[in-house]
Amino acid sequence: MSGGTFPLAQNAPELDSRDHLRHLRDEFHIPKYPISQETRQTDETPGQQAIYLCGNSLGLQPKGTRALLLEELDVWADQGVYGHHSHPNSRPWIDIDACVSEETAKIVGALRSEVAVMGTLTSNLHFLMAAFYRPTNVRYKVIVEDKAFPSDYYAIESQVLWHGLDPSDAIISISPRPGKHTIDTRDILQVIEDNREFTSMILLPGVQYYTGQLFEMERITKFAKSHDIVVGWDLAHAVGNVELSLHDWQVDFAAWCSYKYLNSGPGGIAGIFIHETRSNQGRLTGWWGHDQASRFKMENKFVAIPGAGGFQHSNPSVMAAVCLLGSLRVFAKTTIKAIREKSVRLTGYMEELLLADKETGRFYEIITPGNPSERGAQLSLLFKDGIMDAVFRKLELAGVIVDKRDPDVIRVAPAPLYNSYEDVFKFSQNLREAILEASSVTFSA
Ligand SMILES: *Cc1c(COP(=O)(O)O)cnc(C)c1O
Repeated sequence: MSGGTFPLAQNAPELDSRDHLRHLRDEFHIPKYPISQETRQTDETPGQQAIYLCGNSLGLQPKGTRALLLEELDVWADQGVYGHHSHPNSRPWIDIDACVSEETAKIVGALRSEVAVMGTLTSNLHFLMAAFYRPTNVRYKVIVEDKAFPSDYYAIESQVLWHGLDPSDAIISISPRPGKHTIDTRDILQVIEDNREFTSMILLPGVQYYTGQLFEMERITKFAKSHDIVVGWDLAHAVGNVELSLHDWQVDFAAWCSYKYLNSGPGGIAGIFIHETRSNQGRLTGWWGHDQASRFKMENKFVAIPGAGGFQHSNPSVMAAVCLLGSLRVFAKTTIKAIREKSVRLTGYMEELLLADKETGRFYEIITPGNPSERGAQLSLLFKDGIMDAVFRKLELAGVIVDKRDPDVIRVAPAPLYNSYEDVFKFSQNLREAILEASSVTFSA
């Protein structure tokens, strides 16, 4: 294809040269293509770097992570159980979360005592709801969004059933207006207002996984709390992506996974936030939430660690914790503010390129909000004429890694820590080519 299709083409190298975070790309392994078995058979240029725009699903591996894992394997091999207390790299396993909790707290805008690094997202949501969803005869409803991520929905629905309540009565879901894909904040506030007497809790995503909409967390939290409703946020797609101030916003609780924008590796260790004012909340407990000084006295008298630490259950996976550390060391080289600034420009550049191409633009609609303050590092493209699958396949063959959500959406996430303007430009070219091919196949068939 001709390189000069876009007037904005020449901007990519210049934008990259002005990017203050461009050196951080070198901190990551960029996958090579071909990736899948199918493409492996057809591709002729193995070993070339893929265009990876899938950090919203699985962030890339930081180069430092392997060494950290090997260090832990060595300590385990050389010292066995002594690694819990004596550690050549100053990471005694007994306190392994100490190496990740401070940077985590910065990333979510919390006091260090308000975060704990533990477990996995859906399980943590259950534990947090066990603590914070306390339905009474009067206040028992939960407000959610209609298109909640299925795992969140299952967790909420099963909590409701666990309390002997009927989900069709106890779950109130907020939908976009007819013909819209995203939800207006005013509609969220209206639903809260309308149900204020009966609502126990509201649980929403910070960034919606499908549309990429960034919710107005501060405003919604404030409004719900003014009606004595408990406020929880699922930050799976928000953490490491957008600026968060959970403490100042007075969020009651939040949970996130760390393998998306936080790059901790598949199934990585998750995190929770408990506002300091809620640290005495009743909860389900385990020995790792017990005061460290007396934990090993084994007296069966639970003394909680003050703050989120008291919500821990098990001793955390050391391997998972150092995988997260590998990535947080990269985060520590910059700030969330700087990451977000780049992200707004990078996603804006992608949008600009896509909107400039009217010829292929008519085959899809960008359903992510156009206002940068209402989105993170993701654009969701909703395809028409049933061509999404064909477009996705062609992108894959060209070494462009994005992800699809049935029936018709391709999600594209330029992650500011490692994606370049050139990645974005190449994506737009490949997308154009893929659509032209896919649409001509569809129409001639
Ligand atoms: C990614 C994601 C999950 C995944 O849950 P796990 O328990 O980590 O498997 C759950 N909810 C949301 C909103 C997500 O984006």
